[in-house]
Amino acid sequence: MSINRRTFIKNTSLVLGYSLLPYANFYANSNQKQLGVCLVGLGNYSSTVLAPALQITKHCKLTGIVTGSPWKIPRWQKRYNIPDQNVYSYNTMHQIANNPDIDVIYIVVPTGLHAKYAIRAANAGKHVWCEKPMAKTETECQSIIDACNKNKVKLSIGYRMQHELNTRTIIGWAASKPYGNIKTLRAEIGYNVTNPARTWRLDSELGGGTMYDLGVYALNASRYTTGEEPISVSAKQMTTRPKLFTETDETTHFTLTFPSGTVAYGKTSVGKSMHELYVDCENGWYTLAPFSMYAGVQGKASDGTLLNIPVRSQQALQMDDDSLSILNNTPVMVPGIEGMKDIRIVEAIYEAAKLGKEIKL
Ligand code: NAD
Repeated sequence: MSINRRTFIKNTSLVLGYSLLPYANFYANSNQKQLGVCLVGLGNYSSTVLAPALQITKHCKLTGIVTGSPWKIPRWQKRYNIPDQNVYSYNTMHQIANNPDIDVIYIVVPTGLHAKYAIRAANAGKHVWCEKPMAKTETECQSIIDACNKNKVKLSIGYRMQHELNTRTIIGWAASKPYGNIKTLRAEIGYNVTNPARTWRLDSELGGGTMYDLGVYALNASRYTTGEEPISVSAKQMTTRPKLFTETDETTHFTLTFPSGTVAYGKTSVGKSMHELYVDCENGWYTLAPFSMYAGVQGKASDGTLLNIPVRSQQALQMDDDSLSILNNTPVMVPGIEGMKDIRIVEAIYEAAKLGKEIKL
């Protein structure tokens, strides 16, 4: 494919503008200590993704764990060299307040428990990282923000895509509009889960639901791609397996309208595989596909521009970015308000689907 001058300049400036940014920060602060991170909840995401990522982060490292499953402790201690005094249960985690090895408490439990433990973490006087989706309700999100403000600690939400370098390019395009105004966009995320386990993800009390678990990626992408907040939402939900999805949605389609007139069409499902963000503009288009997987996020635009900056670990990038904002006392990239805005819209999406009518936001 021939690459024209505009494409070359755009790609080069993207590489220089984004990929070097964290390292520029790193060299400026290379004498700084690594922050100690304590993972709360040693389930799948902590075990298979976050703990390994914390072995390659530059500005933070794994120093503590909180778990309700004592049998997991010896394996984690041995593998990650975690001393006895840095191991806690959910009932003792308030004692982290007295532990100088731990600077950040990262909440990685079921969504319906985020608020409970994020508030406990903030009250221990430690910075809080909270997994997405931030919580079940806007009220819970606000209570996390209030607890962090009261305790003067920083709060970051684990939206890894907002740290991913190709995604950052299109976030920048929301303002610079290289292809003109956005007319419509499609954001679709789904997996064909043929035999979903009966875990908290099917339990509405614990924060289950496809719109919470996966749909927030499509919703967040709609917001960061446009740089706007939606003014109305309509939605419908359907299931092909009603015996399984008794409390939660299997598939949700939603439509958002934005003040500029842009319309976003979102889809999420655990019955169908889909992973695309497609943005149709006045003077061209661009796409990321996949736009939300752990690796391999890539895309292109109508003029041949390629979005293919390699990223070794989105989670390491995220945790390093969030550590730097603590070490340098600068604003975090994805604050609590960002998570809360999504949850407000998620609640409206469920309401619009239930009522079968458009809801003004
Ligand atoms: P998981 O079910 O594998 O792990 C959940 C952990 O919470 C387990 O260790 C479990 O023992 C513990 N837990 C504590 N109290 C519990 C209770 N009452 N009921 C059930 N479990 C309880 O889930 P996961 O996939 O690790 O997800 C955890 C969090 O991480 C969720 O908020 C999820 O949305 C988020 N997550 C984010 C990403 C991402 O890409 N950012 C990916 C996966 C999961």
